[in-house]
Amino acid sequence: MRSEPLPLLHPAPAFVDVLVPVALDQAYSYRVPRDLDLKPGDLVCVPLGAREATGVVWADNIEVRPGLHNRLKEVAEKLDLPPLKPELRHFVDWVSNYTLSPRGMVLRMALRMGEHLGPARERVGVRLAAGAPPPKRMTPARARVLAHLADGLARGKSDVAHAAGVSPGVIDGLVDDGVLDTLVLPPEPVARPPDPDFTAPDFTPDQRAAADTLRATAAKGGYGVTLLDGVTGSGKTQVYFEAVAEIVRRGRQALVLLPEIALTSQFLDRFAERFGVRPAEWHSLLSPRLRARTWSAVASGEVSVIVGARSALFLPYADLGLIIVDEEHDGAYKQEDGARYHARDMAVVRARGADIPIVLVSATPSVETEVNARRGRYARLHLPERFGGAALPGIEPIDLRTEGPPRGRFIAPRLAEAVKTAIERGEQALLFLNRRGYAPLTLCRACGFRLACPNCDAWLVDHRFRRRLVCHHCGFAMPPPAQCPQCQAAESFVAVGPGVERLEQEAAELFPGSRILVLSSDLVETLERLRQELDDVAAGRFDLIIGTQLVAKGHHFPKLNLVGVVDADLGLANGDPRAAERTFQLLHQVIGRAGREEGRGIGYLQTHQPEHPVMRALIAADRDAFYTSEIDLREKTHYPPFGRLASLLVSAGDRPTAEGYARRLAAIAPRSDEVRVLGPAEAPLAVVRGRHRFRLLVKSPRNFDLSAYLREWMAVAPKRKGNLKLEVDVDPQSFL
Ligand SMILES: [Zn+2]
Ligand SMILES: [Zn+2]
Repeated sequence: MRSEPLPLLHPAPAFVDVLVPVALDQAYSYRVPRDLDLKPGDLVCVPLGAREATGVVWADNIEVRPGLHNRLKEVAEKLDLPPLKPELRHFVDWVSNYTLSPRGMVLRMALRMGEHLGPARERVGVRLAAGAPPPKRMTPARARVLAHLADGLARGKSDVAHAAGVSPGVIDGLVDDGVLDTLVLPPEPVARPPDPDFTAPDFTPDQRAAADTLRATAAKGGYGVTLLDGVTGSGKTQVYFEAVAEIVRRGRQALVLLPEIALTSQFLDRFAERFGVRPAEWHSLLSPRLRARTWSAVASGEVSVIVGARSALFLPYADLGLIIVDEEHDGAYKQEDGARYHARDMAVVRARGADIPIVLVSATPSVETEVNARRGRYARLHLPERFGGAALPGIEPIDLRTEGPPRGRFIAPRLAEAVKTAIERGEQALLFLNRRGYAPLTLCRACGFRLACPNCDAWLVDHRFRRRLVCHHCGFAMPPPAQCPQCQAAESFVAVGPGVERLEQEAAELFPGSRILVLSSDLVETLERLRQELDDVAAGRFDLIIGTQLVAKGHHFPKLNLVGVVDADLGLANGDPRAAERTFQLLHQVIGRAGREEGRGIGYLQTHQPEHPVMRALIAADRDAFYTSEIDLREKTHYPPFGRLASLLVSAGDRPTAEGYARRLAAIAPRSDEVRVLGPAEAPLAVVRGRHRFRLLVKSPRNFDLSAYLREWMAVAPKRKGNLKLEVDVDPQSFL
């Protein structure tokens, strides 16, 4: 791995600063061995305490304090990997500076190249030996093997065995007889190159116009943000594929970010239909070895299209030419632990730094993006219609105050009737309820005792399929108790409220004989199983799907014509400034699953407040009305994007410690006429995992440097002792 010795340019010992991927802001200084030539960006191995760490040279030729010269350790070796380009190093610095995450922690995301950078496992290949005689003994199995290798080319041994339907022993026998040669094959590529001209898309005039514009944007290059705005089913993916194709033609790299890569098998298939091969993937489920190879393939430019979750934003692209952020409004783009960053916002920053175009894609843009588009800071490309002229689903409210279901039931008679009719017609229906498990609350009929998590300020959720009561915040789980812990009554517990599992029970009674599937993240056993289930739904092997937000995203179910939202009000009442926006986006998206092929989609909203602006906009199919009223409200209240927010979360093992620290912190906030510090207040989720939590909310005008203000504040924050923790979240998405 050690690089070739170079002619000595500086005879004096040189020093470099190396940033290591640990939760620290500063780089460490190291002495450079005489035979090493190091430049900023080089990946090196350095001693770090008692171990060695992979780090990146952040600055060279640094001045070292006299007296320190002899105490500095040496760089152990330079790794044989492409250096991190200045663009990525600036990005790491920028993200760290903006989010107040330690630089080392941000760097760690760029270096997440897997644990095994050693040589890949050898692939053994076989081919016909030159001038070999035919085998002394011929069998049908041997004949099949020879037929597969008749062209003289080398193939993987296991591939040949598989293709010929023989055991590896048959091939070994032919090798022993001298009929076949073995050789070591190069490792299989991470992804085969996409063919930009594999298929020509069949576009409507609107789609063609949008695709041409995006292709021209990609060809021209340079920084610019485009919002690709179109209803579900309008063909947005196919349209932005044309920009990706243009980047591939130019030999550059394109990154497509998806909010939940694990659920995107349909996306990968669509990519393969357009480009002939699947793209390379980047997400947390990659094996360490594939992760290492993908990282290297991205760094060397071998891979041209990467589809990934938010962490793909930090990969060391050799020549990134385009970023696509699909479903840009999705909350999953915000990383909530470790370095807290919003991948959509940081993608815009990276595109600006790399001076390349970026495309944000959504049917329901975030309010931030919508404002930028309305003010002309982002270009907007609008796809007004559904593919093939299919109409958007009509939406009818079901007022739970006047036509709700019978007591203890959750599906109103009108919705039940519609589902029944759809199933009888051989169509699919979806009942949407964004709540996992059987019931959100279990209480004792005799004394009113409620089963709560021992570690959190939260009720235990009944997961009846798994016979467990589970805390959704810390994962605590226990079997349902035989008797009430408070009054000792036996079998006194009743479930309060519905989850998807309870809905399934009701649906099985209402629609006997129908094939029902419950889709909920906690019931997902493996990714393959989930992909299979989604394929089964698409193929029409189920009549009724009951699902959480897992089903809202990106799936295409051709036979689905009816969507019933069981509790449309569920997300509205949680004190989150984005509650209305999120509810609108989620319900719009889930109802948009209906009627994508037949064009006869219908949605039902079960709600207690049909007059709420979110419900009114959904029912009237008036998206602009929703944005206009929401933007107006944000502007009046100085909420994002018209003002900036940061949240400080203080937590400790006991309440007085957390509260006391939060109060001291508030008292020393730097004075500024522009900043308001609200709180401390006990967090809505007051206890999580046994930790008591207090929140401070910081508000500033839009153009204020909130990160600098926070840094100044944190520099004078009192020392934290024991298990006291302070988490800073710039542009928070969660307020619980
Ligand atoms: Zn009781
Ligand atoms: Zn808990």
